[in-house]
Amino acid sequence: MRFSKSNDVLGTTNRGNAAESSLCTLCRADCKGKCETWLSSLVGRKLLYPRSFGMVTAGANNTTHVGVSYNSLRIQGYAYGSHGLGKGLTNDPDDCIFPNVNLETKFGDTLKTKVRMPLMTGALGSTFIAEKYWDSFAIGGALIGIPVVIGENVVGVDLKSKIGKGKAKKGKIKSSPELERRINTYLRYYDGYGAIIVQLNVEDTRNGVAEFVAEKYGNKCIIELKWGQGAKNIGGEIQVTSLDYALFLKNRGYIVDPDPTQPQVKEAFKQGAIKSFARHSRLGGPNLDTVEQVRDDFMSSVEYLRSLGFKRVTLKTGSYGMEELAMAIKFASDAKCDLLTMDGSGGGTGMSPWNMMQSWGVPSIFLHSKAYEYASILAAKGEKVVDLSFAGGFALEDHIFKALALGAPYTKLICMGRAIMIPGFVGTNIEGALNPEKKDKIFGNWDTLPKTVSDIGTKAEEIFASYFDLQKKVGKKEMKNIPYGAIAFYTMADKLACGLQQLMAGARKFSFDNISRFDLFSGNRETERETGIPHVSDVNDESAKKILNA
Ligand code: SF4
Repeated sequence: MRFSKSNDVLGTTNRGNAAESSLCTLCRADCKGKCETWLSSLVGRKLLYPRSFGMVTAGANNTTHVGVSYNSLRIQGYAYGSHGLGKGLTNDPDDCIFPNVNLETKFGDTLKTKVRMPLMTGALGSTFIAEKYWDSFAIGGALIGIPVVIGENVVGVDLKSKIGKGKAKKGKIKSSPELERRINTYLRYYDGYGAIIVQLNVEDTRNGVAEFVAEKYGNKCIIELKWGQGAKNIGGEIQVTSLDYALFLKNRGYIVDPDPTQPQVKEAFKQGAIKSFARHSRLGGPNLDTVEQVRDDFMSSVEYLRSLGFKRVTLKTGSYGMEELAMAIKFASDAKCDLLTMDGSGGGTGMSPWNMMQSWGVPSIFLHSKAYEYASILAAKGEKVVDLSFAGGFALEDHIFKALALGAPYTKLICMGRAIMIPGFVGTNIEGALNPEKKDKIFGNWDTLPKTVSDIGTKAEEIFASYFDLQKKVGKKEMKNIPYGAIAFYTMADKLACGLQQLMAGARKFSFDNISRFDLFSGNRETERETGIPHVSDVNDESAKKILNA
């Protein structure tokens, strides 16, 4: 394992057990620290380097590669050359410096969406943790200039949303305060980079979410069809602890478990034997038996969304097997979708059943390796391949580089779920501790700053390394409206961006179009076999021998 509980080099310690991503297997909103992502939300790019400079030496512990994961891929560096230099730059060493690496990119079929760095958020839907910290995620994402995804069921679980009855979808949703809040919060800070994406699952489709968004926001939003996610092979779940809320959700058409309408369940709840209810979504496409039927259904859904006026339509699929992967790539390409996000097993943000999360589906590196292979099959036939976004267990800058390179030239974005939520939590907790009058309203979890924070500073200007960068961007007056969670997200993204620039500069790639699979090698033979990325000692071995024999 690359990650153990603590990293002496960086001075970080996971509160719980470390997962493949580097985050804890259970990440808490009230965490006082301090994993790498938590701390980088405060100190930003400083965390790219070992601590205690001047009195230490440091060595990597990721050199015994066992098994196959993103952590067993390694990144190339070259001793000469430079590629993809931007306008006005030459191959002079003064120009070929990492801050000159251009992280901007774009995705989409015809209408391109620009992004400031190749990152997007995972889908943050009806799970309450997304609702509570939404301002941090949305404002942070908009300020960074990356797409933020509103996940499924936001309208359905909103006690204040008004949904009409009847089969006609159009005009069914009269109002949806929570969905509107989420979209408006992002759009307030949107400056031409990034996008707000709204996801649709079975219940959202029934409720008429697409029609509502089309009418109210038009092309300010991207609409996304959802096939699945990496964390579970069933639909999304949330947990509610009130009988009334459970009944409300049941009436809204959700599967609620246990069934709150049953007298014995009501009695068990009253006595305390049942303390909560799980709200589940339905499986998609149970009435479809063949690949052709899935294709027809998908094509007509995309066509219908376009008929509502959406110019950009995307698809998110989960860590299903190879047949579904091929269908997703082929159908999304044929339908000229703007992005296909494929979420490998291991990731998760909400309330997925734990053993399901541990044991179902195709782990990210296998899914993404096959995605590259399948995309290449289409490209070899002269077909245009949909832009890809890889998701599932990513948190660090090397993950972004490796995943982009593994899927190059088809991958345009890397999607992070849990990792980008951490700055939202820690920033909010700091804001609540420093402004006790706000604490409950913003869902802060701390009464005072823990030592892990006060060691860095005691006010926002001291704590967040990117505070003044952001203030320069939004202005001193507006800075007062930016939640600390968004400042933390901006700070963490700055660390990721800087780290990515450094990795790219070392690989001599100064823009994304130039990143390729040749920029990676496999740390073990199993990884080589599964990814098609040659083993570390085989890459350029031939040209090395030519040099020796010349
Ligand atoms: S922020 Fe989350 S992942 Fe990081 S140490 Fe705390 S609990 Fe673990």
